[in-house]
Amino acid sequence: MQRRLPDDEKTGVARLASLLRDSERAVVFTGAGISTESGIPDFRSPGGVWDRMPPIYFQDFIASADMRRETWRRRFAMEDMFGGAKPNAGHRAVADLVGDGKVSSVITQNIDNLHQASGVPADKIIELHGNTTYAKCLTCGTRYEIAPLRTAFDKEGDVPDCKFCGGFIKSATISFGQQMPEDEMARATEATLNSDLFLVAGSSLVVYPAAGFPLLAKRQGARLIILNRTPTDQDDFADLVIHAGIGATLTAALELL
Ligand SMILES: [Zn+2]
Repeated sequence: MQRRLPDDEKTGVARLASLLRDSERAVVFTGAGISTESGIPDFRSPGGVWDRMPPIYFQDFIASADMRRETWRRRFAMEDMFGGAKPNAGHRAVADLVGDGKVSSVITQNIDNLHQASGVPADKIIELHGNTTYAKCLTCGTRYEIAPLRTAFDKEGDVPDCKFCGGFIKSATISFGQQMPEDEMARATEATLNSDLFLVAGSSLVVYPAAGFPLLAKRQGARLIILNRTPTDQDDFADLVIHAGIGATLTAALELL
């Protein structure tokens, strides 16, 4: 059942729908806030996972077998908690906008694969921080699936090294201290420069360089919408700011299109 929206949110939703209607090349930019509605916690939030368990830096993963084991232990523990997460109304609304041709690209900071799971074609998704649902050899790039790595970890207390080159296998995410993926950064820049509307959905815009894209869009003339539960440092630059839930707001806006 649809939650009834308060009046000021209704005005925001109407304006959101009108901006979407007027747009021909919209880009959606998502962060943790769209996936918290699927039960995946925002690790960065106060009291979140990283307050209790500091992230492991890429350099430490490379330097230490213990850190690699600890990284994998956490990865598998996370799967037990959130591995069953499903796309929510926010993901489905974004998928509808892509399906209608309204949105050309989805740039995401999330690693949870929920945009793909909601039906957005993989070539329309730009993952700035990688994807945790598979792994890659850090040296040769060969893809590895998680399940067999876990079987090995449970049996031997470790994941194997790459069978082709002996390199370290790591989940396909970008860790702290790890270089941003060049292709994705280039694709995100191009999509942003080509956009006439840039819709931030569920990002508090604190993690750079990802958080630089909304301002890049704004500078080259796109309209900027920020939809997030809490205020962001970039709210002052936006053409429309809505502080509300992602799923309910986007669903209500789509009903007006
Ligand atoms: Zn390899």
